[in-house]
Amino acid sequence: MKNNNSIAAIVPAAGVGSRMQHSAPKQYIKLAGKTILEHTLCKLSQLKSLSQIVVAVSQTDPFFDSLAHIDSRILRANGGQERADSVLNSLLFLENNPPEWVLVHDAARPLVTINDIETLIAHCIADDEGGILASKVKDTIKRGNTHSEQTVPRDDLWQALTPQFFKYDELKNALQRALCEGVTITDEASAIEWANKPVKLIAGRSDNIKITTPEDLDLAGFLLNKQQNEQAL
Ligand code: C5P
Repeated sequence: MKNNNSIAAIVPAAGVGSRMQHSAPKQYIKLAGKTILEHTLCKLSQLKSLSQIVVAVSQTDPFFDSLAHIDSRILRANGGQERADSVLNSLLFLENNPPEWVLVHDAARPLVTINDIETLIAHCIADDEGGILASKVKDTIKRGNTHSEQTVPRDDLWQALTPQFFKYDELKNALQRALCEGVTITDEASAIEWANKPVKLIAGRSDNIKITTPEDLDLAGFLLNKQQNEQAL
């Protein structure tokens, strides 16, 4: 039996972060006094509506256990080969006491605001539909390899962010079936779209960046410091 509108968070954090060219996985790089994963977990722990916060880390991850003290709702699950496998493992981890909804948020997006997360949750629950935070594409988009072949109309183009918020059963079924059929799944929404289910687009802040490359680190450090200073006021 599921609690009505109960919500668990899932934080995929089992990536190696090869594009970061750093000795530790990128979620353990320190910025503004804490690791990236700690910043992300501190944000999520401010959401009182979450029943559990499941973090998918590699089975051999030596760093994670020292972070669990941040919040008693934080639990460790095993990550998988790809991000989608880490999310599915986390969903299966919750199988004995499944929530109604799951909020999936990348470990590498510590800049998300509580306000954006609450807006996403409120819209999805009100309309009884899953959805994602996304920001409208601002740049002119080109298609091509060595040369631009086309300028892509951007009126209906969005950049998918996280969190992504879906009904537990819907996401688990879609991910299981899509992965079984060998479909490429880069985020939860792509599995739901593949299953022909609706995905709401909820406009979120474009500074909710996924820290991916060394260039992202300076910007994220600056923005995290700014957020912390604003909170201290
Ligand atoms: O590699 P990328 O930046 O796209 O990863 C997005 C998120 O998914 C990161 O938080 C990363 O730790 C996580 N991930 C995972 N399991 C994998 C690969 C990535 O949990 N096998």
